[in-house]
Amino acid sequence: MSEKVKINKVETPIDQRETFVSLSKNFSDGTLSVAEKLRVLYALQQTDTEIDRIVSLRGALPQEVEAIEQELASLKSKIAANKELISGFEATIEKNKNDIGDLDNDIARYHEQLGKVTNSREFDSINKELENLGLLREIAQKHINEARMSISEKKDAIEAINDRITIREEDLAAKKSELDNIVESTAKDEAALEAKRKSYTEKLDERTLSAYNRIRASVHNHLAVVPVYENSCGGCFNAITPQKLVDIASGDKLVICEHCGRILVNPLADAE
Ligand SMILES: [Zn+2]
Repeated sequence: MSEKVKINKVETPIDQRETFVSLSKNFSDGTLSVAEKLRVLYALQQTDTEIDRIVSLRGALPQEVEAIEQELASLKSKIAANKELISGFEATIEKNKNDIGDLDNDIARYHEQLGKVTNSREFDSINKELENLGLLREIAQKHINEARMSISEKKDAIEAINDRITIREEDLAAKKSELDNIVESTAKDEAALEAKRKSYTEKLDERTLSAYNRIRASVHNHLAVVPVYENSCGGCFNAITPQKLVDIASGDKLVICEHCGRILVNPLADAE
């Protein structure tokens, strides 16, 4: 009989707002020693800084490309809206042309009757009818003329929008090729850095990574792990207490800047 050992893995949900301070209690847990973990974190930070530098070479180009693409989409939907209006006006023209055809038939019939009238009362009544039909015909013709004018206006508008589209498509192609060139020229370096980044993140537990990512995202210089700079924090430049300086120098203690929450490391600490 084999005895099966059931292991209940208890997982604490990762608090997205977690900082290094809240991690410090359990920092040495896991497979890495504190010294190793600090080295991996610092290496990760340096890799991310290099990736940031590559991404910054693209400047505002990605946003510019996106803005032009949005403008083009909006211009194209304006054209579609104008085309829909035009087909509405064309339907109006068609309907009024049919009405005029019917009216012309009626008018011809009344003219025929007019030749056969026998008294003045009938004559007046037919003339009155012809007058009304003539009026209706004028109104229908007016609708046709108005619709034709509207169509011509909409066609002008479409032409102007198309001119704008041509210009913006050229802008887009230029910006895209500029961006592609930059991306292409740095693609190899970036891929290598991403691979390095992956190897570091795989060594770290999720809680530490989450804290690292959170701090990096919340500070303007995107530095979550910093070296000491002239006895001050390399992230916020506030002074570090002498005891903490000693701890940082040892390379095997987690030291967090009390001012900004960043991890302070000694890049020169001996590798084990
Ligand atoms: Zn600081």
